[in-house]
Amino acid sequence: MQYLATRNAHGSLKRQSLHNAAPWARSVIVCAVNYNAEAPYSTHAGTTREGWIARYAWSEIDYHDVVLARLRNLEARVADLAEHSNDAFRSWCYVDTGPIVERVFAKYAGIGWIGKNTCILNQKLGSWLFLGVILTNLALEPSLPAEDRCGSCTRCLDACPTNAFIGPHQLDATRCISYLTIEKRGAIPEDLREPMGRHVFGCDICQDVCPWNRKAPVGKLAELAPKPERINPALDWLAALDADQFREVFRRSPVKRTKLIGLKRNVAIAIGNSGDESLLPSAERLEQDEDPGVASHGRWAAQRLRAGKKDRA
Ligand code: SF4
Ligand code: SF4
Repeated sequence: MQYLATRNAHGSLKRQSLHNAAPWARSVIVCAVNYNAEAPYSTHAGTTREGWIARYAWSEIDYHDVVLARLRNLEARVADLAEHSNDAFRSWCYVDTGPIVERVFAKYAGIGWIGKNTCILNQKLGSWLFLGVILTNLALEPSLPAEDRCGSCTRCLDACPTNAFIGPHQLDATRCISYLTIEKRGAIPEDLREPMGRHVFGCDICQDVCPWNRKAPVGKLAELAPKPERINPALDWLAALDADQFREVFRRSPVKRTKLIGLKRNVAIAIGNSGDESLLPSAERLEQDEDPGVASHGRWAAQRLRAGKKDRA
């Protein structure tokens, strides 16, 4: 997460203000794409032999590509509209890769409020939203910020299995399963392994429990439709993937970000938490992995299965 501390040529934190990141920009256009799918929450479905993948990674195609293609269309249309303005049109569009905190701009663009779980929440669409932004030198009419509708609810804070919330709107990312399974390299701290359950990529629990997601509509983009085998993938299958298979299966998916070593480490933890003795051969296979990190997590999993331990899921 060192990208958060990126500074500009004058030494100022880029994410502190739009001016620091792009001094020429006068407006930010924020777009949201609904990625909700008609499928139960991943932690509610599947057997003990299956893992959990976060909803945003269920599609075949990486959402960055899908959302960016649409943003570029919009950018071209805005450029057409700006044809007669006095200044030469300048813009920059991106999905997740830019130097501003998109959620904050989404709030001021009226897309939604920032929930206590730190996600953007829209009253009608819930929080299954990808955000994309266009920075432009056009001075556009500002929108009104969305009203905060969390009220006295604390469901997300209470449901987090790793106690990653320091308080409302405050997340200790180093305890968050999304960070642990996707960004973190190396060993997962032992005290966090059991609460991770069978998550192998990301975590949706603090969104699953949000009342605003109960009636969230299903997204309409065909490119983001889920692949059934991504929702609750078989743990023994994941444990047996070799480098070529991993590349082929997750070629266009955000899951590739964990790299094979990271995925196998996560799978070892999920197997160790499954309480399912039929997965012992897979744990033993991971124990023999050529990567010492994967092997040590495999050993942890095998010991737990032999001792009859499982998570609380
Ligand atoms: S994503 Fe999961 S681990 Fe992270 S804060 Fe939400 S519930 Fe906790
Ligand atoms: S679960 Fe409750 S507190 Fe958390 S984001 Fe949703 S409405 Fe807000």
